[in-house]
Amino acid sequence: MRKQSLFVTTVLLVLLLATSISSAQSPILHDVRHGYGVTGVGWLSDYHAPLKNTPGDSRVYYLDSGNPGATVVILGGSHSNEIAGIAAATLIVERAVVTAGRVIVIPYANSSGAMSIDDWRPHIRTWSVETESGVRTFPYGDRRTNAAHQEPDPETYAHYPSGYELDGNEARNLNRAHPGKADGTLTQQMAYAYCRIILDEQADIAIDMHEAGVTSRLANMVIANPKNLDGAVMAVVDLEMQGIIMNVEQSSEEFRGLSHREWGDHTQAAAYLIETPNPAQTPDIPDDEVDVVTDPVNPLAKRAATQLATIQAILTFHDEFYGETLRWEGLPSFNDLVENGLGAYLR
Ligand SMILES: [Zn+2]
Repeated sequence: MRKQSLFVTTVLLVLLLATSISSAQSPILHDVRHGYGVTGVGWLSDYHAPLKNTPGDSRVYYLDSGNPGATVVILGGSHSNEIAGIAAATLIVERAVVTAGRVIVIPYANSSGAMSIDDWRPHIRTWSVETESGVRTFPYGDRRTNAAHQEPDPETYAHYPSGYELDGNEARNLNRAHPGKADGTLTQQMAYAYCRIILDEQADIAIDMHEAGVTSRLANMVIANPKNLDGAVMAVVDLEMQGIIMNVEQSSEEFRGLSHREWGDHTQAAAYLIETPNPAQTPDIPDDEVDVVTDPVNPLAKRAATQLATIQAILTFHDEFYGETLRWEGLPSFNDLVENGLGAYLR
């Protein structure tokens, strides 16, 4: 009996210690240095209070021109190993100055995933870029929410609200959790908060930046909700005229939980997802040949430049065809970013 109660006390103490450690560390802050265009900084938990003090909370950056125009929500890092989106979102926060409309950027959409080790390439823990202010190092995380931050994966994950079934570990995949669930898992609550941002801020356009293996069908792809497929088609034509080749696809009816599908279906926003080719997500490339920053064919600067050029092409379409105007300056052109590298523009 005494042994048992000592055991129980020890377990309780350990649990208490573990809880206090995790809450003391959460949420973590990432190295994002806001430039002249940032007019406000908030938290994801401002849109869903239960996320406060959890590893799922993340910084939200506002770049408000103060002038009429469109509201655009941009996510990087829904999958924390898809770093071109994180790099592009960080560049927007650090360099963009919006002159018409308003941009809301979340560079680390799944901050818990950024605190995980990538399943596929566990040897890649960080990526670094030399900038004017010194070497900056960023986390290379996992595709999913950290397993320690959420209850154990179920045998089968049933997407809410469709009931669409996936492997149990997809319960920690933010891009299978949209539109989210207010009282669901940490991942479902993050997804819920992103829908709330889009709804509460009355976003016209919502963009989710991803990457795929270089030989994947998805690499260099714009995926759009059927209701705004015209925007993706016109953006890809615009890009082709600039010599940037992207493909178009529309959200599948069958696969549920993806941002472009659920944001488009559950909110007023036109919903787009952009995929660039990440060598580390390519199974055929051995570990010792993978370089996520300076790959000769798909360097990170080119992938981030492709994300930004695609966003610009989407914005141009919405401005010209629907009068939804978002204008900004300060970001490098595609060619300048490819030529000069990320280090020339990260602060
Ligand atoms: Zn992804």
